[in-house]
Amino acid sequence: MKTESGKLSRRRFLKESTAAVAAALTIRRPGLARGAEKELSRAGVVVLLGPPGAGKSEQSRRLTERYSIPAISTGDLLRDHVRRGTPLGLQADSYMRAGKLVPDSLMNPILEDRMSQPDCERGFILDGYPRTLAQAESLGALLKNKSLPTHVILLDVPTERLFKLLTGRRVCPRCNRSYNIYFQPPKKEGVCDVDNASLVQRSDDKEEVIRRRLDTYQKETVPAIEYYASQGRLERVNGDQPPEKVAAEIEAKLAAP
Ligand code: AMP
Repeated sequence: MKTESGKLSRRRFLKESTAAVAAALTIRRPGLARGAEKELSRAGVVVLLGPPGAGKSEQSRRLTERYSIPAISTGDLLRDHVRRGTPLGLQADSYMRAGKLVPDSLMNPILEDRMSQPDCERGFILDGYPRTLAQAESLGALLKNKSLPTHVILLDVPTERLFKLLTGRRVCPRCNRSYNIYFQPPKKEGVCDVDNASLVQRSDDKEEVIRRRLDTYQKETVPAIEYYASQGRLERVNGDQPPEKVAAEIEAKLAAP
């Protein structure tokens, strides 16, 4: 049973990393400049921090394309379990619906499993983890054995803007791409630009749940951010600007020695 579910999740993970592999094939074309190849191999681990709605998933997607490393979104991993109705998904669902954090006993094993997949050897992007001080410490222990450069990047977005970013968010259930009906609408209303699927609103992007999530961020995640800041490891990026500008700022941080 354990082996079977392990096999299933591995298969699923391979499926999830298809986009990253496709991006890798595109990026590693023969004409790529030598300097760029060198830069790609330096990406390592990128920990993207920021409040819900700050645009972490959009920036993860861009980084995946730019550096050919997979993006690990803990929210997406959990939603996948919920969709498949796994025992873990059934337990996680009630926390997610309430805008609460899923307990580490459920969260950490999924993350460790994903991080140990072969496509993560050169590095990966973490979107949505760590979210607590305890998770930041666990992550430190996990990364200790990997000799990968690690960047911790905070997407700074004023709190008053987050509410609109979250209530306006619509996602493609097929490719997970995010849009915003106020700030970044799709070309055709309600439909994904990439695969024409009908966009949906996440069940936790409802007003009352949003309030709880923002509250959880303040209480639980801000201490993790302060932990990195106190170690002098936090790199701040202005997240309140068009996604391409945010991406350029992140790239500049990653390129710095
Ligand atoms: P996200 O897609 O990152 O906004 O995450 C959606 C929900 O998944 C969160 O509100 C939490 O309930 C849960 N979740 C995602 N990442 C974590 C994490 N690192 N620790 C605990 N719960 C998480």
